Amino acid sequence: MVGFGYDIHRLAEGESLILGGIEISSPFGTVAHSDGDVLLHALCDALLGAAGLGDIGEHFPDTEAEYRGISSIELLRRVMDLLRSENYRLVNVDCTLVLEKPKILPYKPAMRERIAEVCGLPLRRVSLKATTSEKLGFVGSGEGIEAYAACQIEEADEKTAGTAL
Ligand code: MG
Repeated sequence: MVGFGYDIHRLAEGESLILGGIEISSPFGTVAHSDGDVLLHALCDALLGAAGLGDIGEHFPDTEAEYRGISSIELLRRVMDLLRSENYRLVNVDCTLVLEKPKILPYKPAMRERIAEVCGLPLRRVSLKATTSEKLGFVGSGEGIEAYAACQIEEADEKTAGTAL
């Protein structure tokens, strides 16, 4: 099964910018109830979507104090646990970040490693791309940041049930 996820966050001066579980050095960061990791939010939605298990807002409502400032790595962990408990195995993930700045390239290896670790995937099954929006629209003006993610999951057989690859 294939899953798709999308997320967007507003950017503001003085907020922290955490993407793919990695803190990025930037004067601007995401405004959010959680740590605002737009990339991991899109990925969580892709995983939940593939399994037909709703969306991140249903599982971790931003109205709940429990989730204030929560690490999105922790949310991803919980989503992976849920998939395993439903007997699904993750095959691969493919993510795209859309932001004007800062340059993401230096952070990509660490972000991929973090995602691979939490998802229980080898690095070659974790794809991460980044692009700008050519200074167009709200991303181009630096008002916001977007992320897209896709993934494939399959039914784990009895032998591998409850484990990732
Ligand atoms: Mg979000």
